[in-house]
Amino acid sequence: MHEDGELRLCALYPDLMNIYADRGNLLLLERRCRWRGIGFSLSASGLGEELDPAGADMFYIGGGQDRDQALCARDLAEVKREALHEAAANGAVIFAVCGGYQLLGHSYQLGEQSLPGVGLVDLETIRADGPRLIGNVAIEMELAPGERRVLAGFENHGGRTFLGAATPLGRVLSGHGNNDRDGYEGVRSGNVIGTYLHGPLLPKNAWFADWLIATALGHEQPLPALDDELEQEAHAEARRAAGV
Ligand code: GLN
Repeated sequence: MHEDGELRLCALYPDLMNIYADRGNLLLLERRCRWRGIGFSLSASGLGEELDPAGADMFYIGGGQDRDQALCARDLAEVKREALHEAAANGAVIFAVCGGYQLLGHSYQLGEQSLPGVGLVDLETIRADGPRLIGNVAIEMELAPGERRVLAGFENHGGRTFLGAATPLGRVLSGHGNNDRDGYEGVRSGNVIGTYLHGPLLPKNAWFADWLIATALGHEQPLPALDDELEQEAHAEARRAAGV
């Protein structure tokens, strides 16, 4: 946690890992901090750049095409692996979407090619022959015991993710989720969060952005409420699109 109530966000590979407007997640985090008078700073770390594990409260990786993922996978494994493990062990939030999520585990198997994962959570991803898993999606997650909330978004992935000992982020209400088979979506292991949901996700699920901010800053209590009329409409629309 950073002492003076500033969220320091580090985007990994923001040029390569950014599809379906995943960069919108960064904008929403910034706005929701600023609207509350919480300081905000954004840094970036690209290919070949060392990462300072204490340099951010939250590390973010968006989605990407297989081709770009291959570059990032090697860089994560060779250049940033230790720093990311250290950051996670120190309580930083690691938040990854789709292609970024697939790189959090052991490997991403693409036919003959196996991309290394950064090994933060026990999962693996396999590019199967079947159709891409595409469509609107809604999941239910349990924020705290008994406190169930819905996340809604859009998914489009060829890879199927299978969790080992890790806990899923949520249960699929509508859509495909991790692998179209076991009814689960994403992963949540301590402060490491992975999900297939684009949208971009956070503008459609502002409550989740707030939870990420509070967690990254080590707040025990939820952040003060904002006037979320538009955000609630966006959320309701994403749920309607997913039929939930
Ligand atoms: N390239 C990955 C896949 O197709 C991830 C795609 C994405 O990030 N939307 O599975």
